[in-house]
Amino acid sequence: MDLDALYQEVILDHYRSPRHAGAVADAEVAAEEVNPSCGDHIRLAVEVKDDRIAGVRHESHGCAISTAAASMMSEFAVGRTPDEFRRTADAFVAMMRGEREWDSQGMEDVEALSGVRDFPMRIKCATMCWHAMKKALEKADR
Ligand code: ZN
Repeated sequence: MDLDALYQEVILDHYRSPRHAGAVADAEVAAEEVNPSCGDHIRLAVEVKDDRIAGVRHESHGCAISTAAASMMSEFAVGRTPDEFRRTADAFVAMMRGEREWDSQGMEDVEALSGVRDFPMRIKCATMCWHAMKKALEKADR
């Protein structure tokens, strides 16, 4: 597998037009993560209403993988309950670490990131937005 395969079309599409992307003001930041080995940086704002994730906005700077992952993660998150999100986040991270098979449940876009597993240095690029969202939800739950 080469880098071209890593940056397959679905990832590039999310990278070029990331869903739920936008500036996040300091006062809105619910979680922030950095991936020093790659230079990726994400800031998240989240809105939870009636135990549903009503809105997500992410400000992502970094590689195509990290921005695409944040786009896919946000697309998945909206409309889910925080518990649903946490279960899928854990399954995704375990899949990326090679600890578990991925049952995509129709989430083909997210599955596109599984190719990143062949590049261990890049795994955090794909997982950090899921970690950030879990942190953001802990705050929103309080
Ligand atoms: Zn990266």
